Amino acid sequence: MPTYHIWTIGCQMNRAESARLAARFEELGYEAAENIAEADLIVLNSCVVRQSAENKVVNKLHELRHLKKERPNILLALTGCLVDADTARLKKTYPHIDHFFKAGEQPPWLEKPATLPLPHHPSSTAFVTISQGCNNFCSYCIVPYRRGRERSRPLEDIICEVTELVRRGASEVTLLGQNVDSYGRDLKGQPDLADLLMELNSIDGLLRLRFLTNHPKDMSDKLIEAIAKLDKVCEQITLPIQAGSDEILTAMRRGYTAAQYRRLVNQIREKIPGVAIITDIIVGFPGETEEQFRQTLDLLSAIKFDTVHIAAYSPRTGTIAAKELKDDVPPAVKKARLEQTEKLQQEIQTEINARLLGKTVEILVEGRQKGKWYGRTRTDKLVFFTSSSDYPGKLVNIKIDKTSPWSLQGKIKSGKSNQEEE
Ligand code: SAH
Ligand code: SF4
Repeated sequence: MPTYHIWTIGCQMNRAESARLAARFEELGYEAAENIAEADLIVLNSCVVRQSAENKVVNKLHELRHLKKERPNILLALTGCLVDADTARLKKTYPHIDHFFKAGEQPPWLEKPATLPLPHHPSSTAFVTISQGCNNFCSYCIVPYRRGRERSRPLEDIICEVTELVRRGASEVTLLGQNVDSYGRDLKGQPDLADLLMELNSIDGLLRLRFLTNHPKDMSDKLIEAIAKLDKVCEQITLPIQAGSDEILTAMRRGYTAAQYRRLVNQIREKIPGVAIITDIIVGFPGETEEQFRQTLDLLSAIKFDTVHIAAYSPRTGTIAAKELKDDVPPAVKKARLEQTEKLQQEIQTEINARLLGKTVEILVEGRQKGKWYGRTRTDKLVFFTSSSDYPGKLVNIKIDKTSPWSLQGKIKSGKSNQEEE
């Protein structure tokens, strides 16, 4: 049997798209290769959101050059956000790559499928893309240039897909979009994310629903009410703030102020008790002063996020910031700000997670790692436990006996959780 290998880096959307590609190849009779060097078909699914990711892709592309020399009959393809409209230029730079196709598109050497194949045995936690692309053009971000304008998938398609994934064994589904708050604006009848969640909440066998990413300028009261009300929708919101200074937020073209963001967080916390809020931060944006950076730290101290993804600004060719603003924060300063932010957030997470000591939490078991089972709470906290029984896809109650900023550990408890989790 011919074999395939898909190498993936970047966001969850890339991972979801790779899983769909894998299902497609398997339908066509391919088998997963033991390792990349032996595969007959290799796809690189790339990310260019920051220079560091782009460098990894370029290194991988160079490695494949040697492989193609040794085994000229293999088929090589590149997808993901490195692929722009100018595939002729890409072909010139990487002549050993046979095919280039844009993120979310179908492999051009295959016939267009009538419906996209789904994995036969999805993991207990599956991902479903609800919209492609983005219309926001935040000044630093390359995503709208590489993934195009926003296109929502019809509500009925998503319902069918989630129903089928659940039938095949998935228990938790995470809906993906660059801005899930604008889902449906381009569809007939303009259904929104709250409408979609209401429909999905009634699918038998589905235990949990998550979604990301929300945009602070677009999140509606209706959605907050729906999250609060629907039992399968987890108490977890990914709401990137990016910076604590209003001048920086304006230069980033984010469309909200720090005060508006804080009001939104208060409203969410009031309506959804125990909700976990996850955010993204960029440090060292062009022109960011010490004082403006301090405002980001102050905001983290005030809000106390459950998780923060922190990145140093990386200029991306073609974006508004790269064209109009000088990347003037020295690399050493960016690094120092990144480390300072990480240190503060680690303290905050230590404190937040320590509150769970001695409590019982309900987790959905995802798999095994280094002899331990692991899964997540509804609030997306990673929990490890030991047991000789078989658990994947099941909900279990764990009494927490050890906490760290990054994960929790505990012992399995029999009987129903009394929802002690915060
Ligand atoms: N649509 C999502 C994800 C965008 S990319 C959102 O709006 O959040 C994921 C994260 O990468 C962003 O939230 C941002 O924090 C970071 N990012 C994007 N472009 C970047 C750049 N040029 N430099 C550093 N970080 C960047
Ligand atoms: Fe990029 Fe902003 Fe769109 Fe997110 S909302 S993908 S950061 S342009």
